[in-house]
Amino acid sequence: MTAPLLPSSPHTTASPTPLAMNVMPPLPPRIAGLTQLASNLAWSWNREARVLFREVDEAVWNRLRHNPIVLLQQVPPERFAYLATDPAFCARYDRLMNWLAAEKSDEHTWYARTFPELRGQAVAYFCAEFGIHNSVPIYSGGLGVLAGDHLKTASDLGVPVVAVGILYRHGYFDQRIRTDGWQEDSDDNISFDQVPITPIPGINGTRHLVTVNTFGRDVHIRVWRLQVGRVPVYLLDSDLPENHPDDRPLLSKLYSGGPAMRLRQEWLLGVGGVRALRALGIAPAAWHANEGHAAFMMIERVREKVMAGASYAEAVKSVRSCSVFTTHTPVPAGHDQFAVGDVQACAGGAAQGMWKEMGIDAEAFVRIGYHPEAGAGMFHMTAASIRLSRRVNAVARRHGIVTRELCKPLWPNRPAESIPVGHVTNGVHLATWMANPIMQLLDRQLGPQWGHGNDPALWEQVLQLDDDQLWGTHLRLKHTLMRMVREEARRAFANRKMETVQLVGAGTLLDPHALTIGFARRFATYKRADLMFRDVERLRALVTNTSRPVQVIFAGKAHPADTPGKQVLQNVYQFTRDPQFEGRIAFVEDYGMHLAHLLVQGVDVWMNLPRVPMEASGTSGMKAGLNGVPHFSTIDGWWEEGYEGNNGWAIPAAVDSDDAKGTVDQLYTLLEQEVVPRFYDRDSSDLPRRWILTMKHAMRVAGQQFTARRMVEQYARGYYAPSILGDVLPDDPPTA
Ligand SMILES: *Cc1c(COP(=O)(O)O)cnc(C)c1O
Repeated sequence: MTAPLLPSSPHTTASPTPLAMNVMPPLPPRIAGLTQLASNLAWSWNREARVLFREVDEAVWNRLRHNPIVLLQQVPPERFAYLATDPAFCARYDRLMNWLAAEKSDEHTWYARTFPELRGQAVAYFCAEFGIHNSVPIYSGGLGVLAGDHLKTASDLGVPVVAVGILYRHGYFDQRIRTDGWQEDSDDNISFDQVPITPIPGINGTRHLVTVNTFGRDVHIRVWRLQVGRVPVYLLDSDLPENHPDDRPLLSKLYSGGPAMRLRQEWLLGVGGVRALRALGIAPAAWHANEGHAAFMMIERVREKVMAGASYAEAVKSVRSCSVFTTHTPVPAGHDQFAVGDVQACAGGAAQGMWKEMGIDAEAFVRIGYHPEAGAGMFHMTAASIRLSRRVNAVARRHGIVTRELCKPLWPNRPAESIPVGHVTNGVHLATWMANPIMQLLDRQLGPQWGHGNDPALWEQVLQLDDDQLWGTHLRLKHTLMRMVREEARRAFANRKMETVQLVGAGTLLDPHALTIGFARRFATYKRADLMFRDVERLRALVTNTSRPVQVIFAGKAHPADTPGKQVLQNVYQFTRDPQFEGRIAFVEDYGMHLAHLLVQGVDVWMNLPRVPMEASGTSGMKAGLNGVPHFSTIDGWWEEGYEGNNGWAIPAAVDSDDAKGTVDQLYTLLEQEVVPRFYDRDSSDLPRRWILTMKHAMRVAGQQFTARRMVEQYARGYYAPSILGDVLPDDPPTA
């Protein structure tokens, strides 16, 4: 079956425009296409488009955290009237309009050249969260941002991905830290007039497009479209008046509400997502579940096949053959599992159980999620995904090893090495994460071809960059970060959201000349944000050194239900206010993609201290690397394959991996003996030559090995194309 080639962008079809565009003041005709540009998130990784919006009004642009829709709404018409007469602005605008028009075709893309016979055969990509841009708050962290980077890269490469997710009306959450350091969370509501989402008309004039029965009630689902370059993202929403009041909020909040809510969300995502694609006339040839949250998508497809006449066994075989499953969790407790009784009720219960349309009974239905170690009472989403996917992968080399161990109970007769689970190491989207000034530097010094592809030889040339210019560019980015930190604090202070005593902790005393370490991630306890504070004396000695000071910027959210995580955050926060550290330890509130950009581009070192082997991959260190910011980490996740000795620092695993004390000791020894001396070792022109060399290697390795381009090419070659072509991998379903 052929799917619509590239479901066209909202502005090219008769489909309704994004809601936000209805409240847009008229623009001068000469530049009226700015609304189209703002309607497709492709602008966010086109650096010329970013420059164009910034030129409209830089101060407003920054205050809005780069939301072009609100920019167009708020900047006065006189300014646009002027810009419509500015030749430089108009020339840039015209180039962007041409680019936007060219984006409609996939003709010259990598995928079309590499797999011409597969053009137009859609690949469905399901994920519970997508981090595409800060202005669309439907993500919480790493998994979502990775999924967003995947979509952007699929768009760049012409991989015909069609994404399915959830429209969380109340987002994840906004973070504010009280004066006592306790995290308060408030809804981060989607503003429908500020986000480029388009409602898809329902059937017969209704709002909903599809209906899914769960817990004995029909839940009607409305579908919205978000355009990410060439890739459409279909977002499910249950907040409709025609739904039972208890069902309306089912899809409103990301990762909240406990297992009962999670189970329903996952059911609606999986089953509703498949039905939505059908209703839209899209027939994917391969199906990718990014993490086990989307496992029910495979179950719905088994049902479809049985309803179309296949036996259950045939249906499973057929669904398996074109399903891809990526697991992201190296710890057993991190895998979703639900009580089988709840799963049966969720699937319709005795009266309407979905198994009846699958040719099996209720027992066999829950056996799809049987995991020997979870026991008969539980439905294990990872086990179910593995049973129904022929191609399964982990997200880093080391995570592959850990995952094969974890999966041993599913293939009890096999040694771990021959468990059929591969790995595709995560990567990050270069054009999203590399700062414009760094890209301009590469343009100037390497020529415009550097960005085309991941040819290792091109990235070797990074070592030839001019030291002075690279360092100068880095210092500019560091100043930008510090200015933004101060501006955010000033605004929070002025709006009475921050008390005077909190200003120091917010980073207002940071020194742009001091060695600055960035530590920003979710405050899960295994990430050990408080590890540095286990040796307060050594920390104080480092930060208060008058000639070679060190400072640390922390950021990150704790999951609202994670009390231990919130305690770690509170603990870290208290140190930021402690005068003995002289204002050199900061905590910046509300970590999200916007702040992540500033941090990975503007600090000197990126630090990560997960308890080994609990980090599946991690990606923020790759983003830092692309900007020439070296990584300093325990040897876990991607760093196990990324550390080459000259591109950062690695803390060897402590003998007992729980031995935080050994890690703290190594951490300080490295800082005192390697990191600080190298940073402050300046030549006669005040350049830290050895440090700059480390920066170049950080950039080289990130560019060669850790871009999303490398990652998506691997998925396309090793997973999508073989799934579509039905190649002859031996079929190895789990035996347990
Ligand atoms: C990249 C990113 C992450 C993932 O970072 P880790 O290295 O996995 O901790 C999380 N949150 C945001 C906002 C990001 O941009």
